[in-house]
Amino acid sequence: MKQKYDIVVIGAGESGVGAAVLAKTRNLSVFVSDKGKIPKKYRDVLTHFEIEFEESGHSIRKILSAAEVVKSPGIPDNIPLIKELHKKKIGVISEIEFASRYTNATKICITGSNGKTTTTLLTYHILKNAGLNVGLAGNVGDSFAMQVALHNFDYYVLEISSFQLDGMYDFKAEVAVLLNITPDHLNRYDYDFQKYVDSKFRILQNQTKNDFFIYWAEDSVILNEMKKRKIEATAVPFGFLPEGKSAGAFLTENKIVFKNDKIKFSMTLEQLALQGKHNQRNSMAAGIGAQLIEIRKETIKQSLSDFQNISHRLEFVASVHGISFINDSKATNINATWYALEYVDKPTVWIVGGVDKGNDYEILKLLVEEKVKAIVCLGLDNTNIHKAFADVVDVIVDTESAKEAVEAAYHLAEKGDIVLLSPACASFDLFENYEDRGNQFKQAVNEL
Ligand code: ADP
Repeated sequence: MKQKYDIVVIGAGESGVGAAVLAKTRNLSVFVSDKGKIPKKYRDVLTHFEIEFEESGHSIRKILSAAEVVKSPGIPDNIPLIKELHKKKIGVISEIEFASRYTNATKICITGSNGKTTTTLLTYHILKNAGLNVGLAGNVGDSFAMQVALHNFDYYVLEISSFQLDGMYDFKAEVAVLLNITPDHLNRYDYDFQKYVDSKFRILQNQTKNDFFIYWAEDSVILNEMKKRKIEATAVPFGFLPEGKSAGAFLTENKIVFKNDKIKFSMTLEQLALQGKHNQRNSMAAGIGAQLIEIRKETIKQSLSDFQNISHRLEFVASVHGISFINDSKATNINATWYALEYVDKPTVWIVGGVDKGNDYEILKLLVEEKVKAIVCLGLDNTNIHKAFADVVDVIVDTESAKEAVEAAYHLAEKGDIVLLSPACASFDLFENYEDRGNQFKQAVNEL
């Protein structure tokens, strides 16, 4: 039987709609199906490109008539529909995999548990400043597929999540960056950390010795995994390590040294626009990536020092009566918050809480004991936070809105202190998403 559709797209969000448009512009027959209501902006795009779609439910027979399915990364693999597709041996791929078939561009692909967006934007900033014809895609900005459909970029900087990687098979990154691996999203990996690690390592798939694999060489999870595998690509380390013999980004006497096989240059830590140890490492990863594709050192240096920080990541909001307010709402797991607490250098009132994804707060205890003078919980259920820190912090209060939290923190802080929103938790008990949480926090600060 002839397949009815070349491509069925499940999930009409940013990536799904991009994939549908790309399929359509490449003359493939395509059908889009969404279980929920499709936002107007995406419905308009589908209509504009005359793409057949349905919403508020799936027509299973139509979907099962696909030659291949592009699945939105938000949809887990274990739902009945996806299982049925697997049973029928219908290929299920991610939008990144699909789009990569239609471009010959050089792809710099960034993954890791934390720091992806920051490093992706930093890298894009360098390539843009270098005058390259470059697109920014993946989890940030417009989807990769949409850009492949409508533009003709020579380079792409792609932020790639593990959910995207799970649907990638033939895709190859010319430059792959693996920033770090710490437990996250384990609910999608049967609570098996190794499965999550394997997913992240898919970033290396299909690489050859002419490609690069940039990795954080102080991350024991990455190093252990590398020992188990044969890495085909040229492996390039970065980290606060002495200078190595071959290419990499290293730390020597408070200076970051970047080197490829031809050129070596350095920058002081103070010259970097993004502060905090984690951001210094993100800058190393972005800088060495740019150097490997032969961008001039002047451009790299300039770009790493004039980059404008992005919202909700250790974002300085305001100083009110000598109290500094910092918005790190994007810190939705323990590791990200660890870096925020590591970064603060004044007595801190810490706003934390939300939907806990199985957090082990023990990891934060030493830093909290050293730096946190009071905790303001911002979540519906704060039991675990009270339990974890009752013996190291005297004052722990509960709040249920950003405004209440900011006011409580303001009263607890004194001149010279920091109020840090770094929740270590997801936001959806009280907020729409982390941006909403950060924006409400900023608004409350501005109203003080
Ligand atoms: P992602 O896109 O991977 O979620 P972001 O760049 O949006 O990463 O940053 C998410 C959170 O993690 C922020 O709170 C940020 O301060 C923190 N962070 C950024 N880079 C790192 C890193 N290299 N290691 C640990 N935490 C980081």
